[in-house]
Amino acid sequence: MSEELIPVLSRAEIEQKVKRLAEHICKDYDKEELVVLGILKGSFIFLADLVRKLTIPVQIDFIRLASYGSETSSSGQVQITKGLELDIGDRHVLVAEDIVDSGLTIAYLLDYLKQFHPKSIKVCTFIDKTGRREVQIPVDYAVHVIESGFLVGYGLDFDEKYRTLPAIYHLKK
Ligand code: 5GP
Ligand code: MG
Repeated sequence: MSEELIPVLSRAEIEQKVKRLAEHICKDYDKEELVVLGILKGSFIFLADLVRKLTIPVQIDFIRLASYGSETSSSGQVQITKGLELDIGDRHVLVAEDIVDSGLTIAYLLDYLKQFHPKSIKVCTFIDKTGRREVQIPVDYAVHVIESGFLVGYGLDFDEKYRTLPAIYHLKK
């Protein structure tokens, strides 16, 4: 089966957009300390770029969620396969996700995190894919918004492929 990669965001565009987002976040949190919580694996490259551009004090943690579904969509049945390590009680938490699609993964995670009583929770996603949203969840920050399509690169994979590409592509099969 042949797969075609169509450029969506270049490396330079990503760099500029992530920088702008980091400035926005720093302004909003106004020197308050932040826990950036990355969802593995997809967010790790975006998170690494973002946190290095934040000028406020930041701590980093990761959570890994396994979601059952087909290769290109999630079912909303989520299992946590690696939990939190930091205590997020009374802390500002910024969830960093690679892409929000149906919203089911983030909805599950936000509900799960509430039991730890953070001071605040916001959601930051690299890509906000709006066309298939099934639950209304707050997307507080998005680097790039698209309506539809399956994207790869910059941390996003298809069957563990394309994750290390430095730019974002639309995968056409
Ligand atoms: P949701 O629960 O919002 O439907 O799914 C979010 C997860 O599905 C993402 O974190 C990602 O792992 C996967 N996903 C959804 N759309 C895409 C896409 O266009 N490309 C890739 N690589 N993964 C996607
Ligand atoms: Mg993901």
